[in-house]
Amino acid sequence: MSDEKNTNDTEKGNARDGGYEEVCSICRRPESKAGRMLHLPANLCVCNDCLQKAINAAPMIQQMMPGMTEWPMQGEEAEPEPKEEKTSVAETEILEAGSAENTEETAADGSEEEETEESGKDAGQNMQGFPRIDFRMIDLSQFGSWGGMEIPQRQKVKKKKGKSTPDFTMKDVSAPHKIKAMLDEYVVGQEQAKKTISVAVYNHYKRILADDKDGVEIEKSNMLLIGPTGSGKTYLVKTLAKLLDVPLAIADATSLTEAGYIGDDIESVLSKLLAAADNDVEKAEHGIVFIDEIDKIAKKRNSNTRDVSGESVQQELLKMLEGSQVEVPVGAGSKNGMVPMATVDTRNILFICGGAFPDLNEVIRERLNQRSSIGFQADLKDRYDEEKDLLSQVQVEDLRKFGMIPEFLGRLPILVALKPLTKEFLIRILKEPRNAILKQYQKLLAMDEVELVFDDGALEVIAEKAMEKDTGARALRAILEEYMLDIMYEIPKDSNIGRVTITREYLKNTGGPIIELRGQFVPGQVPLLETR
Ligand code: ADP
Repeated sequence: MSDEKNTNDTEKGNARDGGYEEVCSICRRPESKAGRMLHLPANLCVCNDCLQKAINAAPMIQQMMPGMTEWPMQGEEAEPEPKEEKTSVAETEILEAGSAENTEETAADGSEEEETEESGKDAGQNMQGFPRIDFRMIDLSQFGSWGGMEIPQRQKVKKKKGKSTPDFTMKDVSAPHKIKAMLDEYVVGQEQAKKTISVAVYNHYKRILADDKDGVEIEKSNMLLIGPTGSGKTYLVKTLAKLLDVPLAIADATSLTEAGYIGDDIESVLSKLLAAADNDVEKAEHGIVFIDEIDKIAKKRNSNTRDVSGESVQQELLKMLEGSQVEVPVGAGSKNGMVPMATVDTRNILFICGGAFPDLNEVIRERLNQRSSIGFQADLKDRYDEEKDLLSQVQVEDLRKFGMIPEFLGRLPILVALKPLTKEFLIRILKEPRNAILKQYQKLLAMDEVELVFDDGALEVIAEKAMEKDTGARALRAILEEYMLDIMYEIPKDSNIGRVTITREYLKNTGGPIIELRGQFVPGQVPLLETR
């Protein structure tokens, strides 16, 4: 029976607050930490601890500022009665929590009339010259959200369901080949990387579901993605999170600093994840965190100053990567007294770190050249000097040499190296993914009933220009945007235009695009050379 009542109460609570926890208006702890809340007018909640503290502090405040704590009831002067008898228990608690109880007895001379007179004369001034505030004359509810004091929704934590078992089963987890097939639709090439990631993710979710009764605990499959800028590291992780439908937080290691220094604390990463999970701690605990630019927190070489953004950040990340209970500020990047805190268990969060590791090629080349020049099978000393894809041969010792500490690398057991982007690769990125840039432009013009065609020469020019910029596939959109602007502006002017072909000449500024009028071409067929 009482269980039933409890369930009903919880349901009612959930309905009232949309499944979010209540947060103490004073200490900002959520009810899962602070216990049941006392409800005050104007949507204020106070936890037991704060209430108790307020009660304990009352006599002290009273001694310090006797005038400030005087709260005469309306009309009370005429009929002096002990307040406790007039007010309900809840009201008394409110008074005590809000300030301190009035214990000042009537004026020293004992004359009630004089006291009343004085109150009237001073118009709200007490004997010490402090304004005398009658809090009960103020209708707190008229303030609605109490002047912005109500905890904003983004700072509220979703209630835990009470059981810590995952809400998915093995049946819900896609097999690696299915994960890879889904990735294939969006991410071109990078076959090895996609395969490794698919297996790692599959094992990660198996690990969450596995019990460790037999003493075998599956290690976390945190990953380290290595690849030049614009090679698709972030894109790969974003696509993965979207396909798996789990919350994702993307953080930048460059902004992280050791706790107490200017910059973001490590916990800010989890704050972002919590926000991505709608402040639902349980959902966040199965999410993915991507920390980009991880190479920027490598140990600084030859540095005499305190390294607050390098090695020490790696040290601080260790516990989080491995799995620990972290106190996370809700809805804000940093901890402060005004922000509620939630405890997030990082044991089942998949951490993926990414970085360009600019000079890593040199470190790998040095190692490979050294090895190949020793022993009977010694090769040419400079055998690897011309090798372009050295990153795929990366080993943990190279990363250690680069400045990553061994403990940190030990917590990222899966190394994934992305292939450098060649011209052919960039052309494929332009046209093959499900939401390829070319497809997006074609869709835009199709809405004007105009067919948009790019000839092979044009694609080559775009890829060549992107290679020159050295920002990987990121440059493609900017380049296309520049040339497509005129097309998007001019074409809708003439409703007779049925097809536009972007040519090498147009991109090289030696000619224009091929414009064909409706009825002059067979849709879907490549434009004839004579028309050029
Ligand atoms: P990184 O994080 O490695 O610096 P991004 O993930 O931001 O690079 O990549 C930039 C853009 O390049 C992405 O938004 C995506 O559109 C495109 N891109 C890169 N690699 C690929 C790929 N293999 N397949 C499809 N698009 C890609």
